[in-house]
Amino acid sequence: MPIYEFECSSCKDIFELLMKVGEDKEGVTCPKCGARNPRELIGRTSFHSRERYEERLTRRMAARRAESKGAGNQ
Ligand SMILES: [Zn+2]
Repeated sequence: MPIYEFECSSCKDIFELLMKVGEDKEGVTCPKCGARNPRELIGRTSFHSRERYEERLTRRMAARRAESKGAGNQ
């Protein structure tokens, strides 16, 4: 199944969805704010989105590390 990338027209969040070929994109909503009809990003390379994904992952892990550091410092 191809991965489609969308940009929310409301909060500008970029998210990816795995969709079946020919699946209706009308019902797609933003996972962050729930807005309908996000803009489909066409022609972006998977490398680019992977880079973004890893960037987010790194940020999330850094946040988690900071949390556990604070919790263990009693
Ligand atoms: Zn949104």
